[in-house]
Amino acid sequence: MDPSKWIDVTVDKNHYSLDHFVIPKHYEQDLSSILIPHGVIMDRVQKLARLIVDQNDGPLGGYQYASDLVNCIKKLTTASGHTVPISMEFIRVKSYENDQSVGVNISLTENELKDFEGKNILIVEDIIDTGKTMVALLERLQQYKPKTTKVTSLLVKKTDRSNGYIPHYVGFAIPDAFVVGYALDYNEHFRDLDHICVISNDCGVRAG
Ligand code: 5GP
Repeated sequence: MDPSKWIDVTVDKNHYSLDHFVIPKHYEQDLSSILIPHGVIMDRVQKLARLIVDQNDGPLGGYQYASDLVNCIKKLTTASGHTVPISMEFIRVKSYENDQSVGVNISLTENELKDFEGKNILIVEDIIDTGKTMVALLERLQQYKPKTTKVTSLLVKKTDRSNGYIPHYVGFAIPDAFVVGYALDYNEHFRDLDHICVISNDCGVRAG
């Protein structure tokens, strides 16, 4: 794994104090630190957009990352001077586990899935934790014979529970902690927090 592929923010000293950036007042007690400030996220998204446009001719799913990424991609042109045609499909993926396997439930109809045949697919994800959901999703999508399938995730968690899956384009490697913000939620809370933060142990939302 090429370490230049991502920015490693797993080291404790990289965390920022809540005092250093603006945090909605109602979240102050619930967060312990800021892991990735919003400005850094946006700068990194620009670079990932550049890499994706450089390496894919198109046509090319968490929603904040997907929307900011598409905004960047549409401003860029390929080496041959073309803009990348984009068509977006939002997929809700639920993974389920039983004794033998991890499967996925996908919010698309059979006919919509059949449309993937022969297409170049870029899956846009917020976070990879164990990697089980993504591996199961990729296995399922392969049945519909896309031409190419690539994956980008803004965050990859460094955890012993990982199955080793690494996406093609990664923004940041993060520590094995529960993170919120930038549309990553905890029971629907924190979706309005722009920075990616580590939830505090005595988080009221968690307790409540
Ligand atoms: P995996 O199958 O890779 O273990 O799980 C991926 C899914 O778990 C993500 O798409 C996300 O919904 C959820 N998840 C894993 N870790 C976190 C986290 O730290 N914060 C939030 N908000 N969701 C997480």
